[in-house]
Amino acid sequence: MFPVPAIAAGLMATATTPSGLAWLMLLAGLVLAAVLAVATRHYWSRWRPAPPRESLPTESPRQRDDHLKLALWASGELFWDYDLVRRRLHRIRADENAAANAEITVLVRQGEVPPIHEQDLPLMMQRLRSHLEGESPLFMSEHRMDLSGNGTWVWVRARGRVVERDSDGRPVRLAGTARDITASRNAEYEHRIASEVMRSMSEAVAVLDWDYKFIAINQAFTRITGYEEEEVIGHPLGMLDSGQHGAEFLAQVRENLSREGRWSGELWKVRKDGEEILCKVEKNAVPDASGQRSLYVLVLNDITEQKRAEQELRYLANYDTLTSLPNRSLLSERLSRAIVKARRENGRVAVLFIDLDRFKDVNDSLGHATGDRILRAAAARVQQTVGAEHTVARLSGDEFTVVLEDVGSAAEAEAIAQQIISAFTRPLGIGDRLELAISPSIGISLYPDHAQVPTDLLKHADTAMYQAKAAGRHTYQVYSETMDEKMRHRAILASALRRALERNELALVYQPRMSMGPQRITGMEALLRWHSQEFGGISPDQFIPLAEESGLILDIGIWALRQACQTLRQWHDAGFDQLCVSVNVSALQLQRGDLPQVVARTLEETGLPARFLELELTESVIMANPGQNIDTLNACRALGVSLAIDDFGTGYSSLAYLKRLPLTALKIDREFIGDLTRDRDDEAITSAIIAMGHSLSLNVVAEGVETEGQLQFLREHHCDEIQGYLISEALDAAACLPYLHRAQAAPGAAQAAP
Ligand code: C2E
Ligand code: CA
Ligand code: CA
Repeated sequence: MFPVPAIAAGLMATATTPSGLAWLMLLAGLVLAAVLAVATRHYWSRWRPAPPRESLPTESPRQRDDHLKLALWASGELFWDYDLVRRRLHRIRADENAAANAEITVLVRQGEVPPIHEQDLPLMMQRLRSHLEGESPLFMSEHRMDLSGNGTWVWVRARGRVVERDSDGRPVRLAGTARDITASRNAEYEHRIASEVMRSMSEAVAVLDWDYKFIAINQAFTRITGYEEEEVIGHPLGMLDSGQHGAEFLAQVRENLSREGRWSGELWKVRKDGEEILCKVEKNAVPDASGQRSLYVLVLNDITEQKRAEQELRYLANYDTLTSLPNRSLLSERLSRAIVKARRENGRVAVLFIDLDRFKDVNDSLGHATGDRILRAAAARVQQTVGAEHTVARLSGDEFTVVLEDVGSAAEAEAIAQQIISAFTRPLGIGDRLELAISPSIGISLYPDHAQVPTDLLKHADTAMYQAKAAGRHTYQVYSETMDEKMRHRAILASALRRALERNELALVYQPRMSMGPQRITGMEALLRWHSQEFGGISPDQFIPLAEESGLILDIGIWALRQACQTLRQWHDAGFDQLCVSVNVSALQLQRGDLPQVVARTLEETGLPARFLELELTESVIMANPGQNIDTLNACRALGVSLAIDDFGTGYSSLAYLKRLPLTALKIDREFIGDLTRDRDDEAITSAIIAMGHSLSLNVVAEGVETEGQLQFLREHHCDEIQGYLISEALDAAACLPYLHRAQAAPGAAQAAP
């Protein structure tokens, strides 16, 4: 009666290696086919492909009917029967709303094939054709259909086969089962999306069982930890633990996770290659299908680099990259903290403001790379001296600040300042066998003695440092209120200086220069004097820096040049027509670049031949911008004026560079001359400078000569000219002609100054 065994045999023959599951599914399909056959018994008889060889002897038709109905109901499948000629479809299914023990109603529908989704239609048709043409023994398709006719697409898995053919063997009828698989299709789809997301996530994802053993990982996990899937699956999570966290901490994390269901934080993990990485870790417990035991999903993010970058940023914000010392912002923070602590404990804090003497000159003449090395060496020297327990910061350029905590008294801070100064008497090593001596000037301020807040303390230490500079550098000064007075005074002076030119308060004095061969006065150095109506005589060491800072030196310089040339013209007219005049030129005048024009104009206006004018420039002035200055100097030299390098020996000129400058004279700084006959080093330096000057064909002048002994030394070493109190102090213009007459009359006794 039933085609079951035959169909089963046919199916089994076609299914080459059916797995257990496939088997079951086939079986289910077959049972259903049988059920449906019962339900549509009247069709059966007509298209039955083969007559039943056996009936089911043990069941009555009624029982059978019930069983099959039950199976149809339980399987949730739908039976279909399609008439290929009339294009009519029969659908039969059990009423799903019926309870298992109640009478099951079988619903039958007849009509056209419900719409099939246009995206699925081609494949379905291809499968159908393939079956009808005998290429595949079974028609199987998964496609969307609008079963209800209201536009809702339902995924349907249909299976069937040809069940009847015409006399020519052409298929006329197809029957089979169909099933709504929308839910599983959706679940599968979601699963596919989920695993795609997991695969493409840049974070490492691992699924762990309740024993914290790996069940699954993604590619990022392998990339981040270095472990391949087969190396971790089944292994405990502990294989990634680093020694950085104690067992207690890790146990706490797990306890937290099982209690709260989630944990996140930062943990150190160890990669397969042994490298430790800092990870942002997120652990979530996911109940398994039974709803009880948990699976854990672990998301790891390697933040080692990010942390490093953050630290670097924090470092950059707080430290000076050149010296690795704290910068201004960290200094303020530490100083504030020190003050808060001192206030609480009735303690004292000292701020030392350190500035390297003439660092700008060093930097300009030796180049910035060397300057940087000096700053690094100086930073290390200060830190070594005060010890690691005190903060040493670099504020800017060559300014360093030390915060001394727990100082008992001002004397204690002074002692440390003195230690720093002494530490700098040893030269700084600045790389490859290079050494350089540089001295610091230090200003000291104290909490609570001088100020209550960091900014004021720093300001006062700065003021004190200026005073140390003014006191001759290479020393320290403790802040006092009178210093502010001095600073104010300085500001007042600066504004008075602005009016000095108009008020005719400036004057030049002249200091004679004597040649050593035949002893005669060869020239005069013009030196500025300021006699202020309000403040009286002010020394050039005080007002020239002010004039340079304010730019007034440009006008003053022009004035001095004209004044000197005019005066010399008068002396020439008075018969001293071989006399020269030397005029000092400051950095700003040279930097302006119009010095040659100014000089040319002045010479023209005063009618003085160029060869009687000498310009004095200090080493540091020339070296400040050698490239540009060399052009300006060449242009001056081209006018015919002489060029002397002043204060030689205090700067850091390179000999190679000096050779390229159009110089005519070299003046040895009085610092070396002063100690001649007392200090062997200064003697050696002086004789070396003289020899070097001669090798460059320069006229060598020693300045600051005060004693016969010095004169004697210089003569023996063939110095060309001397200048100094031994010959004469600087003279008022009016005193010069009488002096010159006297000197002319008794050349040997030129030093007999008035
Ligand atoms: P300087 O160019 O080195 O001038 C020489 C200084 O040494 C002068 O100081 C002079 O009075 C002093 N002096 C001369 N002989 C002796 C001596 O035997 N022993 C000692 N101890 N000192 C001696 P002064 O006039 O106070 O000038 C100081 C500095 O002011 C000058 O140093 C120069 O750099 C600057 N200066 C003076 N006049 C001018 C000027 O017109 N323009 C510019 N730009 N700077 C000037
Ligand atoms: Ca000079
Ligand atoms: Ca000088």
